[in-house]
Amino acid sequence: MAMTAIIEIRDLSYSYGDGTLALKDINISLEEGCKVALVGPNGAGKSTLMLMINGILRPSSGEVFFAGRPLQYDAASLRAVRRAVGMVFQNSDDQLFAPTVYQDIAFGPTNLGYPAEKVKRYVGFALQYVGLSGYERRPPHHLSGGEKKRVAIAGILAMEPQVMILDEPTSNLDPASSEEIMEMLDELNQGGKTMIISTHDVDLAYRWADEIILIKDGELVRRGCGPDVFMDGNLLREARLKPPLVVDIYQELASRGILSGSRPPRNILELCDLLQPEGRGRPLGKIYIWDVDGEDEVQVISMIDRMENCYKGAMGTGAKLLAERCGIHLDFTYGVIDKCILKALIGKDALIMTSGGMVEHTMKRISDYSRESGAEIEAVRIQRP
Ligand code: ADP
Repeated sequence: MAMTAIIEIRDLSYSYGDGTLALKDINISLEEGCKVALVGPNGAGKSTLMLMINGILRPSSGEVFFAGRPLQYDAASLRAVRRAVGMVFQNSDDQLFAPTVYQDIAFGPTNLGYPAEKVKRYVGFALQYVGLSGYERRPPHHLSGGEKKRVAIAGILAMEPQVMILDEPTSNLDPASSEEIMEMLDELNQGGKTMIISTHDVDLAYRWADEIILIKDGELVRRGCGPDVFMDGNLLREARLKPPLVVDIYQELASRGILSGSRPPRNILELCDLLQPEGRGRPLGKIYIWDVDGEDEVQVISMIDRMENCYKGAMGTGAKLLAERCGIHLDFTYGVIDKCILKALIGKDALIMTSGGMVEHTMKRISDYSRESGAEIEAVRIQRP
């Protein structure tokens, strides 16, 4: 089946009113469901490009297509495209404006003409998804940076977008909040949404994105998977970027002859495997996977008590919130699958609590790893009778 690009940008250039040429002859085609990072230094044109994709800015020349159709710039067409292509701004204060969280998230669906009851349902769903049920009456400007970002995301989710564009989604967030937001974006991507972020954080882009689009001085200078883009030292220097830390370490070890291989590791797990490729010499631990959607606190606590000797991690907003409500100490709250595989490799068992339909993804990641590495890690799905 031929795939139509969900977003296509053809020969696009853009100059701001003051004559600044911000984008030059950009051509990009993105497939539905992809997970892409626009990477480049400050002023490269990332934000400008994002504003083109959902029609907030109109190209000086060239065209943007959504699902095969060129964007039209009349009010009705723009409303339709902004609903399908939701944009989360870098600074949440530019996005949140209503006196309460509820009103903020309700703004989009209300404008779409949904009846009050449907608006309420959508807002409730979106708030639950981002883990902020109960925040309806709070004023957005009193929330923490991470909470504001969640409200902004909820406001977009309430309109059921196909594509989400997030400009520097983790800027100004602390590390834990950043990881939580990125995991949420992963979860949404697993659910089928196309995700486009911009960032100058190379570690984040390398770890998270399937594909990198490198932009510099308004031009697209490279498009490819993380290893292709981030192994090219000259390219990175020219773009005022540095390699991701794990690539940097890999290159240093390779230059000393400690490691070899043509592809850099994507993460710490792969780095450890390169350093200790075979003969781990000890029995492997197991990874238990438990979909906790629909479980109540009593069940969770009693199960956790029986798994005392396991490392514990939670993936997905629902699972994390449930763990918190149950007072469970979590060893891992981000990069959970890889961390549990690392533990299994040294013979320790681990339990992953998942929510939001992440079970299949987790099982697959572990079986893919086992196949590729030859380390047969047993993934056990917990199913209560
Ligand atoms: P990035 O998001 O990669 O930091 P931007 O898209 O914000 O880059 O900016 C690209 C270029 O356009 C920069 O030279 C910037 O100074 C310029 N620019 C951005 N916004 C405006 C504006 N409103 N008016 C004039 N120039 C702008």
